[in-house]
Amino acid sequence: MVVKDLAYGHGAIPVAQHAVKAGCKRLAVATMDEAIGLRDAGIKVPILIFGERTTEELKYCLKESLTCFVNDAATIKAYDKLASQENLRAIVHLEIDSGLSRYGVRWSEAKAVIQLLADQKNLLFTGIMSHFAMSDELDKTFANEQLRRFNEVLAWITGNNITAGCRHMCNSGGFLDLPQAHFDMVRTGILPLGVYPSQVCRRIQGIEPIMSVKTKVAAIRVLQPGDTVGYGMRYEATETRRIAVLPVGYGDGYPRVRNAGHVLICGKRAPIIGGNAMDAMMVDITDIPQAQVWDIVTLLGKQGNDEINAHEIAKLKGSVSYDILAGWRSRLPRIYKDSP
Ligand SMILES: *Cc1c(COP(=O)(O)O)cnc(C)c1O
Repeated sequence: MVVKDLAYGHGAIPVAQHAVKAGCKRLAVATMDEAIGLRDAGIKVPILIFGERTTEELKYCLKESLTCFVNDAATIKAYDKLASQENLRAIVHLEIDSGLSRYGVRWSEAKAVIQLLADQKNLLFTGIMSHFAMSDELDKTFANEQLRRFNEVLAWITGNNITAGCRHMCNSGGFLDLPQAHFDMVRTGILPLGVYPSQVCRRIQGIEPIMSVKTKVAAIRVLQPGDTVGYGMRYEATETRRIAVLPVGYGDGYPRVRNAGHVLICGKRAPIIGGNAMDAMMVDITDIPQAQVWDIVTLLGKQGNDEINAHEIAKLKGSVSYDILAGWRSRLPRIYKDSP
């Protein structure tokens, strides 16, 4: 499971521990600190670090048995030398850039790098991967082209009697929609958290978001006609309205909005009015007369028969669900409940 960026805001260590307990065999992160954090928490499964590493970082990877990528001749030689100095064999994977134009060696130029990697005595070439640019949209044309390019590389490897170990290509979108690309392992991040990577990918049973975000009504006020609400006076009451003040804002990771978005109170939708502040926002509860101070308010998740999901909040800032999940700030305490 991919647990980068605090497992998309859920908390890397609790999520990783839970995943491992549930049978997950490997973890992946994006930075050195994330990997070391997992090791310090006593997590022993193989950890893959995406991206490129400096020579300093390679030393850590070797010491902590972290799996990193070596995608060019200079890094391959440097890491082999480091490993030989320590009399160790370093575990490495190779990334093939099949069209994302991010990390890795370009598929059409990979042969020399693969041969060099396979020839190193102190590097254990245990995996080869590629990453999709568009796997969760309806049009799979480019995803299939990337798969064709990756397969071309794999065929060359087999034809040259090189063993590249674990082959992996799929993120959550690929896992759902591109079974022909599953290979030996998939790298899912968002899906095990119960959130689909897009609105159009395949739906499977048992996927429910594990994260909800809640606050409480901190105050209730009654507006008179002509009263304005919040910084910038973005809302003006034209009649008597009852509003609730919530002690959360963009400083907690909720998008900066103006008269947009909803929260759930007493199982009902209450619209956000005015511009939300760093620490507070106001919602209209005129139609929810039963709402009281300290009632629980759901910003993200289910309440009663209604639900606000990450895609809905993402639209408020023209972004994606990933950004919303990972965007909740550290000042919102995380509370973990065991799944039933
Ligand atoms: C983030 C990431 C993933 C996970 O993607 P999801 O869509 O969350 O499943 C997989 N592979 C790489 C290289 C990534 O950077």
